[in-house]
Amino acid sequence: MTCTAVSTRPGGLQGKCLVQNIERSSGGFTLHTSRGIVRAGVVLLATNGYTTRSLGRLSHHVLPVPSFLVATRELDENIVLDLIPGRRMIVETRQRHCYYRASPDGKRIIFGGRAALFKPSDAFYERQLRTLMGGIFPKLRGVELTHRWWGKTGFTFATLPHVGKLEGIWHAMGYCGNGNSMAPWLGYKVALQILDDPEGDTAFAQIPLPTRWYYNGHPWFMPLADLRFRLHDFVANLAR
Ligand SMILES: Cc1cc2nc3c(=O)[nH]c(=O)nc-3n(C[C@H](O)[C@H](O)[C@H](O)COP(=O)(O)OP(=O)(O)OC[C@H]3O[C@@H](n4cnc5c(N)ncnc54)[C@H](O)[C@@H]3O)c2cc1C
Repeated sequence: MTCTAVSTRPGGLQGKCLVQNIERSSGGFTLHTSRGIVRAGVVLLATNGYTTRSLGRLSHHVLPVPSFLVATRELDENIVLDLIPGRRMIVETRQRHCYYRASPDGKRIIFGGRAALFKPSDAFYERQLRTLMGGIFPKLRGVELTHRWWGKTGFTFATLPHVGKLEGIWHAMGYCGNGNSMAPWLGYKVALQILDDPEGDTAFAQIPLPTRWYYNGHPWFMPLADLRFRLHDFVANLAR
């Protein structure tokens, strides 16, 4: 890798810049990035489900769990209201749970779920979500899906987010699929902690951030966890 120093002026922001490696160096850290080297006194990792092994020890504490979504074509608004009265947001209690809602304009159903615990092909996860959606809303069987997308959420073994410092690197992550409001809040809290402001104190800094002996940042066991969740839901369904 050829490295050139990138701007490190205070407040400077570098987009589209992958941090490939973080090394301890005198007075702080040296970050090897896709656009050069950055030296920093303080490092905050806010990479959640994208915390890879190259970023260090935190990758042993946060699991990448993919979340998949599809959106139907525009439907008659009365059909949408009939399927989701009051346009509620819905989350299930199944282990491979689904989450769904009407789109803000009330014309589509947006349907998400744990189609898999690893990244399958687009066709696979679309098929899985279509089957799950058709099971819940028979009216939507065969409906055209116009959009699909996915991303990684970050889960901790405590299933709660965490802020703090590990091996000298600050972090705020592990939102377990619920980070839209928590991530900005805990990002603010950890910034205050870095400034040594007591207002930065939060319960999410006090709870443990466990790992497991079998997890070294490579989530090899996710397909097995997927099977376990499927089996659990299958048995729970039989018992009903
Ligand atoms: C499909 C989907 C649906 C979701 N739905 C909801 C929902 O309905 N409600 C809710 O509360 N939450 C939801 N979430 C979870 C929510 O999106 C996350 O909890 C939240 O985005 C976490 O914010 P964050 O800033 O910590 O991490 P992210 O938003 O994941 O951002 C991490 C950032 O780190 C950058 N990054 C990663 N690695 C590197 C690196 N090596 N170098 C440089 N940059 C790096 C990435 O480019 C990214 O910009 C959903 C997530 C997904 C994927």
